[in-house]
This record gives sequence, C-alpha cells and structure tokens, in this order.
Amino acid sequence: MSETATANKETRGFQSEVKQLLHLMIHSLYSNKEIFLRELISNASDAADKLRFRALSNTALYQGDAELGVKLSFDADSNTITVSDNGIGMTREDVIENLGTIAKSGTADFFEKLSEEQNKDSQLIGQFGVGFYSAFIVADSVTVRTRAADADVDEGVEWHSEGEGEYTIATVSKQSRGTDIILHLREEGKEFLSEWRLRDVISKYSDHISIPVYLQTPEKDEEGNDTDETKWEQVNKAQALWTRAKSDVSEEEYQEFYKHISNDFADPLTWSHNKVEGKNDYTSLLYIPSKAPWDMFNRDHKHGLKLYVQRVFIMDDAAQFMPSYLRFVRGLIDSNDLPLNVSRELLQDNKVTQSLRSACTKRVLTMLERLAKNDEEKYQAFWKEFGLVIKEGPAEDFSNKEKIANLLRFATTHTDTEEQTVSLADYVSRMKEGQDKIYYLTADSYTAAKHSPHLEQFKSKGIEVVLMYDRIDEFLMNYLNEFDGKQFQSITKAGLDLSQFEDEAEQEKRKETQEEFKNVVERAQTYLGDRVKEVRTTFKLANTPAVVVTDDMEMGTQMAKLLEAAGQAAPEVKYILELNPDHAMVTRMADEPDEEAFGRWVEVLLGQAMLAERGAMEDPSQFLTAVNQLLGK
Ligand code: ADP
Repeated sequence: MSETATANKETRGFQSEVKQLLHLMIHSLYSNKEIFLRELISNASDAADKLRFRALSNTALYQGDAELGVKLSFDADSNTITVSDNGIGMTREDVIENLGTIAKSGTADFFEKLSEEQNKDSQLIGQFGVGFYSAFIVADSVTVRTRAADADVDEGVEWHSEGEGEYTIATVSKQSRGTDIILHLREEGKEFLSEWRLRDVISKYSDHISIPVYLQTPEKDEEGNDTDETKWEQVNKAQALWTRAKSDVSEEEYQEFYKHISNDFADPLTWSHNKVEGKNDYTSLLYIPSKAPWDMFNRDHKHGLKLYVQRVFIMDDAAQFMPSYLRFVRGLIDSNDLPLNVSRELLQDNKVTQSLRSACTKRVLTMLERLAKNDEEKYQAFWKEFGLVIKEGPAEDFSNKEKIANLLRFATTHTDTEEQTVSLADYVSRMKEGQDKIYYLTADSYTAAKHSPHLEQFKSKGIEVVLMYDRIDEFLMNYLNEFDGKQFQSITKAGLDLSQFEDEAEQEKRKETQEEFKNVVERAQTYLGDRVKEVRTTFKLANTPAVVVTDDMEMGTQMAKLLEAAGQAAPEVKYILELNPDHAMVTRMADEPDEEAFGRWVEVLLGQAMLAERGAMEDPSQFLTAVNQLLGK
C-alpha cells in the first residue's frame, strides 16, 4: 500500500458539544491566535511522555527511535503548517473518541452558560481548555495523520475536517510512528507562514517542555543567503522546567508552564516550587489558579497532580497527592523514591505517597497563609473562587484543622457587608472584655442572617457575630469546635447566656419580670402542648416579640434543611418558643383573660417566629385564621 492509499473511509458528525466548542472558540479566541501552537506542542509533548512511560515496560515500542521530539515546518506555497511528533500516536478508536467528542460530563451545561455571557467567553472558554480544536482558530481545514506506537505501518489513520459539522476518517499507511497535524491556514492565519514568527512563538511556549522542538529552516550558502536545502533547528531549551534551579526560572516561564500543564489560559495566582532531599527525595511545583475550574463541583471532576518518577511522566490527575478540599491545586510532583512501575492501585496505600501527600498539603496551606499575609487583595480573590472548597477542609483533614481555620474568611456584623473578609483571628482580636466565645449565626442568605431577630441583643451590647450563609457552613461548624481556645457558639441555640455583659441591677430586674411572667409561660405551654419543647421568657430581643431556638442537643434549623435538601430524612426539630416580655404584643397577650383569645395570640407569635427561623411554617392556614380573628376584633 502506498503512503496515500486510503481504506475504510467514512464521514462522521461531531458530537454537538464539539460543534459548539468550535463555534465559540473561533469567535472568541481570534485575538489570541498564536495559542494554537502552544496547544499542539503541548499535546505532542504529552504524547512523548506517554510513549516513554509505556516503553518502560516495553522498549520495543521505540522501534529503534527513542529520540522523542516535535518537528514544525511550513510551506508558503500550499499555505500549510505541519506539527509532527513521534510520540504514542492514536488508533482509529482513539481518534474518534479524542478528536470527535468531548468526554467531560457537564460540558453542554457549561457551554450554555458561555453563550449567555458573551463578553466573558474568551476567558471562560480558556478555562475549559480547548486543546486540539484550537487549530481551527487559524486553519480552515485540518488533517491529522497518526499511527499508534504498537500498530503496523498500514494501520495509520487519517482524519480530516473543515471544522464545521463533520469529519472524515480513513485507514492509511504511515511509515513513522506518531502524529502529524497539517493545518491549512485561513487568511487570518497566514502570518504564521514565517520562520521568525514561528521561532518566536515556539520559544515563548515551549522552552520549559522536556523534549526538543525543531523548526525546519533553510540552509544558508557561503554568503548567508537561503538555499533550497533545509535543516532541523532546535528552537527551545528542552529542559523540564521543574528540574531547573528556582533562580534560573523567570516569572513568565512559571506562568507558561502552568498553562501547559493545566489547560488554563489565565495566569496562576501564585505557586511554590520546592526541591526536597532527605527522607523523601522529590521536587514539587504547585500552582493556585486564579479562577475555579468550571467543573470543580462536578462529581467526576478530575483533580490531582501530574506524577513523575525520576523525571519520567507516570500519570495525570494523581489524586492521591492532594486532599479533596485542595482539588483546585494544579502542578506536579517528581519523586525519586517511588518505583517507575507504580500504578494507581500501588499509590493508594503506599508510605511514600502518604508522606508526599502530607508534605504537599502543608506546602499548599503555607503558600495560602503567606498569600493572605502578604497580599490581601489576591487572597480575597482566592477566597471568592475557592472559599467554598476550603470550607470542606476541617471535615476532611483533621490534622490541619488549625491551619485551615486560619484561612477561613467570613462576613460579620462588624463589617456589615456580604463580602467574606473577616478572619477568625480578626474576630478574636475584637472580642469584648469578658467574652470567651465566638458567636455565629447560620442562615439561608446574607440578608436573612443580617436581619435575624437573634442579633438584637448582640447589637445592643456591641458584640460581633459571624454571619454564615453558605450552604456548607452548617456542615463546617460540625467540625470546627474552637479557634484559638475559644469555643464557637450558635446564637440560635437555647442556653445562650450573656449575663456576663449585664450589671447586677439589670439582672435583678430580669429575675422579677421572669417571676411575673411565669403564669403566662405556663398558659402558653398548656395551649401548645407538645407542639413545642418548651416556652420561656427571653431578654435578648428588642423589636421582635418572639423567636424559636433549638436545644444544644437538638439539630439546628440549617442542618435539618440541608439534610432535607439532600433527600435525607431529618429528625423533626423540636423548638423552644421564647417570648419577649417587653414587647407590646406579648404584654397584650399576657393581659388577655379569655383562654381562647389567648391561644390566638400564641398561635400568631409562634407562627411568625417559625417563619423568621425556617422561612416556612407547618400549618399556614391555622396561623392565618388566628391572625384574621385577632385583626377582625
Ligand atoms: P487534552 O489535551 O486537554 O486532553 P485535546 O483536545 O488537546 O485535549 O486532545 C484530546 C486528546 O487527543 C488528548 O487527550 C490525547 O489523548 C489525544 N491527542 C491529541 N493530540 C495528540 C498527539 N499529538 N498524539 C497523541 N494523542 C493526541
């Protein structure tokens, strides 16, 4: 069979997500055309990594050619650029799966969002990672010729597409292992038909890649003029970035490398590069992205580090080196202690893995602490993107609970804004004389928290309260018991005692009122029966006649809602009704001699307290009847 003979040719449609991606990309990335080269060289480098890894156990795959590299050439007459590698290559099935579909779940939803926010497209789509398809930013047709390393010469595959709805795929013979990508440039892509332009872009994007990237350049004659002969000239440094000394790597190089390993277009927020010798011998390079990955909360979100052993790439997304609450961290670890034939299973319960994981976790937490200390603005940007994930930390990582607690940021009554900017250390530094607890309130939203009647006495006493309104907060508070030796105290729990902030005369007066109200409390208790756990008087309210609270032993409202939302059966919460004896409604109720009319007052007070606490009440019609009867009188 000759090199061009084709067989089994078929035309296939792109998955609809691919069509969408191609459309969005061509229209939003044209101002950043050159990135197609970064993506293609990055893929070629990955293909070389994969081959090297597979060849560890089967050197025959090299077929006598173990010098892995990428070759770039262009032809101004035919308007083409060709990117060739001698990496792992692809089979027909690989090609159909990799260059015709997007396997990530949730992609369709993501694109939906993109079209709604037109102006943000280019940033968001960069975050998605466009990879191979970026070829169509500059090309009006793309041909891929590839052969898998373990396939025969006549088992090559040719893929061709004009980037519209479909592509063709055929079996061809291909002499060399690996992949050639031939781009036929559109008008706007022709600027790349230049040795200088290509040289420039290649060195920008591939100095840090470990394999050499060659550019085909003309041989010069004695006078320095181009001849028809050409040679392959290595353009990049071809030294894996993390093996270089920190002082030799520029900020830009770290940023480019991040883009190579992460598929992200945006610069990272910060990073940490460390060589460690001793008990464990390894290098780690860990990055904090500036934007959360679009699928961070998807169940099958892939995370983890790239694993290298003695500079050989072993696997992507090695989740074993990062806890789940740091799943946004990108980067790599290169270990000299793990065996080259390490598998995911082997990593699972391996001593070296465990100690590397713990070291990497500490590294990230320290890096974040430092960021918080040195650059408040950047840290705030970090918190906005990743705060919700960090809040999973105390539950998952007991041993680093304190470090994580230091990273948390909240809204409080002190700052009076929804922005979560207050650290627990800030809170503690503002605690009042005699205050030994960190007071907090959880609610459905910032507005609900801010207007909670439970806050009234704290406001009047000038005590700061942490306002929590993220769904995960209730869960977080199950694992966070204290900070800096101070216990956390929910202000919606019964048994809240602020008497240390009151003087004796005040306390005395309260005792008297309580005594006077005993009878009212009993009447209300009798009326309600076991609909509530208890009725009490309270002095913590100012403008609100009544609230409901839960016992310390009882599940809180937010937790119960969380369980219900997750479809789990939550035990029924038994509330304690607290009455404000200084409120006009309550004194009127106390003065009501008729038990039936008294009951209506109780009904209205309980109803509105439940509404404030839960945003709903069990039996609205009972409440409304009582309200109507009272108003009608
Ligand atoms: P990503 O690189 O993010 O996975 P791409 O769209 O760039 O996404 O590529 C999709 C897949 O196609 C890759 O994961 C890889 O399996 C395969 N692929 C792309 N380019 C090459 C290549 N030069 N050699 C071998 N496989 C490749």
